[in-house]
Amino acid sequence: MNAPRIAVLGAGPAGCAVALGLQRLGYRVWVISEWRRFAAVEGVSARVLEGLRQVGLHQALASAAPPTPRRVRWSGVDQLLNDERLLDRPLFDAALRRDLADAGVELLQGRIRQLGQQGEQQRIVLEDGRSLLADFLVEARGRQAPLGEGRLRGPETLSLLSSWQAEPGRAGSAVESLADGWSWMAALADGRCYWQITLDAAAAELPPRDELPAYCAARRQASALVQALFGDSANAAAPVHARSSTAILPRQVVGPGWIRVGDAAMAVDPLSGNGVFQSLSSALQAPAVINTLLQHPERTQLACRFHQQRIEHLFMRFARTGRDFYTAEPRWADAAFWRARRGWPDAQPLHVDADIARLQVASMPVLNDGLIDEAEVVLTADQPLGIWHIDGVALAPIVRSLQAGRLEAALAALAPASRRTVQGWLLQQGYRP
Ligand code: FAD
Repeated sequence: MNAPRIAVLGAGPAGCAVALGLQRLGYRVWVISEWRRFAAVEGVSARVLEGLRQVGLHQALASAAPPTPRRVRWSGVDQLLNDERLLDRPLFDAALRRDLADAGVELLQGRIRQLGQQGEQQRIVLEDGRSLLADFLVEARGRQAPLGEGRLRGPETLSLLSSWQAEPGRAGSAVESLADGWSWMAALADGRCYWQITLDAAAAELPPRDELPAYCAARRQASALVQALFGDSANAAAPVHARSSTAILPRQVVGPGWIRVGDAAMAVDPLSGNGVFQSLSSALQAPAVINTLLQHPERTQLACRFHQQRIEHLFMRFARTGRDFYTAEPRWADAAFWRARRGWPDAQPLHVDADIARLQVASMPVLNDGLIDEAEVVLTADQPLGIWHIDGVALAPIVRSLQAGRLEAALAALAPASRRTVQGWLLQQGYRP
């Protein structure tokens, strides 16, 4: 029998990473995508590059610019960091497609117009009239993926992006807080310049659309940081692309026959600088979830729970990271933009202190050899989804022994290197012999 046919909608980092993972598992994969309709530059950290390497997106990895200096002006304090990696998105997106081609994944270029059910299969209709049938759908169209009712939405946020060409020079980037929002900017070595301002969609006092280029130019003229990075070239009006950057978590991110990954599963506030990272994170786990849904339908609930819980957990972590950045800027705490974001999504701390008394053993879905399985894991205050193994040692039996007063015997049964690792972990959890 032929392997099921899987259609991945969207060739961004999430869709491409999932497609490669599925291809490795032996599935027949189509990626269906159009090109992004605007050019942008995005800043990522070294761990994104590690993620690209891990999922096998080598051409995309090679397209990242070398590390560039990044200036941060936040809460009136200036910092110079050296860890920003700039992704020129048109180059990066083209490299992602070369990675697909190198792996032999079929890419269909076109705009998806409609999805529908046909018997057991999903029908995908493209704008040019082509129509395809797939056994499983991976929704990876980013923020453009049709959204049912949003389960959780952050304060409505708008980003305006301007780009222009200047003389070639040194690459660099900068971020600064403003009374009504924040801006991020990057200069590439070939002279292309990008500046993006992020504002509250309701509170921002914006002119009519055709006056946005002049409005943005005036905002740039008022910034010493902009002048330092770009010089006079920033002062002329340049075309503006407006897009939403509201944080959104859809109600359901997986079901029988379909899954959402990347921004389609959770779109985070760009301030957290984690968009591409989270796309790769959700894409790393998705092939195992899909494999389980297709090969072990009896585990459907377990596999869905795994994906849903992890997406929700990651979303809340990034939402709280964003909230803490906003709270770290006290100067305009009462202005509409800052007030709404200092209190969202909640008041819970990003990390909860370790507490040995709160360790619990529970049965949870885990990723095991390309499938979702169920196993006993240890839940901690900071890791509510549980930890299964540490350095190859299952933690649940260790914690059970600790709780039964037999820790010494359980540790004695481990090899010396594993014993030291487990003892180190217990000490971090607050255990005191
Ligand atoms: P995308 O990269 O959006 O890919 C989706 C793909 O689907 C695209 O190729 C698109 O053309 C295609 N597609 C969409 N609709 C259709 C359709 N109907 N038919 C066919 N194809 C379709 N992240 C960072 O890490 N660093 C940053 O500095 C950063 N800055 C950001 C600034 C802003 C203002 C915003 C909004 C986001 C920013 N992000 C940043 C987030 C980052 O862009 C996303 O998290 C990331 O690109 C998501 O990847 P994805 O694969 O899920 O979706």
